[in-house]
Amino acid sequence: MKPAWIPFASRAVPRYTSYPTAADFSAATGELEARRWAADVARGEPISVYLHVPFCETLCWYCGCATSVPNGYRRVRDYAGRLKAEIALWAAALGSHGGIGHLHFGGGSPNALQPGDFAALVETLRREFGIRPDAEIAVELDPRTMHDGQVEAFAAAGVTRASLGVQTLAPDVQTAVNRIQPPEMVARLVNDLRSAGVKAINMDLMYGLPYQTVGDVVTAARFAAEMGAARVSVFGYAHVPWFAKHQKAIDADALPGLEARFEQAEAATEVLRAAGYELIGLDHFARADDPLTFAARERRLRRNFQGYTDDPHETLIGIGATSISQFRGGFVQNLKDRKSWGEAIVDGCLPVERGIALTDEDRLRARAIEQLMCQLSVDAWAVCREMGAAEGSLDGALERARALVPAGLCEVDGSLVTVPPAARPFLRTVAQCFDGRTPAVEDTARHAKAV
Ligand code: SF4
Repeated sequence: MKPAWIPFASRAVPRYTSYPTAADFSAATGELEARRWAADVARGEPISVYLHVPFCETLCWYCGCATSVPNGYRRVRDYAGRLKAEIALWAAALGSHGGIGHLHFGGGSPNALQPGDFAALVETLRREFGIRPDAEIAVELDPRTMHDGQVEAFAAAGVTRASLGVQTLAPDVQTAVNRIQPPEMVARLVNDLRSAGVKAINMDLMYGLPYQTVGDVVTAARFAAEMGAARVSVFGYAHVPWFAKHQKAIDADALPGLEARFEQAEAATEVLRAAGYELIGLDHFARADDPLTFAARERRLRRNFQGYTDDPHETLIGIGATSISQFRGGFVQNLKDRKSWGEAIVDGCLPVERGIALTDEDRLRARAIEQLMCQLSVDAWAVCREMGAAEGSLDGALERARALVPAGLCEVDGSLVTVPPAARPFLRTVAQCFDGRTPAVEDTARHAKAV
């Protein structure tokens, strides 16, 4: 890593899967706004749906997701029942629309649901929202905890894409993060999914885990390529034990330092590029024939709570505890406490806890940040014109970007800000120049480090 980059690498920055970020949501925005924004969705307009399943059989120590161990299936089944009721509430709030064009089951581990309960949920979504014939139905899977008949249930429900958590293949690293998962187990699941008709397989890898080395990262990246993963994401472990309590089980002294993290990320990139993958945005890779690659080439790439996506829909309904919904008017997040979330649904309320209404300035900044995060460059004045704002509205952001030029994090030519390929790991740092809400200072309580 260049010496000039080191101070920026340890700085905390948002992931910018949304702007404003969830840290800016407040209780001042809630169910009233959610109902108004849902009713504004146009007749015939396709929507996206995210459904959160917050259960895992065991916890991986690195995990920052909203999940827990259910201690018996009854809690999962009760939760699935509440999900169905929540789906009906949102369907009533939305009224007429164009049906689901993109459906994503995330978690947690959606395969915590038994096959019959998963099928019943998809059936409820089909009945209440309608699922378009060309819809992408994606599901995140933990290869260690598949139920009998689950792969067949996914195929029968129309699942088109499965994302497998692989993270690392090194046994000592797996032990240190409480996730023992031999490569044969992953390979078997990939084969089973493909045989059943779920052809598109994504894999998630990580670097920066305790005891992890460049060699481990290279092995995992080669494995993903050899398995023919359509998309591979490579995330750096964010050690935030004050936020994700079970991370306290990770030995902080065993974590790779900044330089080592950087080398690991670079090594994964090298392996995947050599295997023919296109680098998408900050940390995703896709095969040349994957729709994400086409979206990136055609400048249709988007960024949302699931990361980089070719999902073009403007409305996203988040179902389940903690889920976030996105509307043209703003964001709302469901209650995080599962008991309160379930009680709100029983009372016939949309189980919304907090949110934010977008201002014109938020929309302008969000557009600039998304363009930069997706395309590695943004023309600030062109964004102002596109969004109907005065041409100088983002000049403060340009000024902040110019301050990053001497360190080589970006180039600024007139109103065009570009992040050179070598500085890609600092994309979020440059994007923060366009953020009007999050101060560019150490704020480790809310966000992870840049690298
Ligand atoms: S990483 Fe995945 S499987 Fe592990 S605890 Fe988190 S959500 Fe569950």
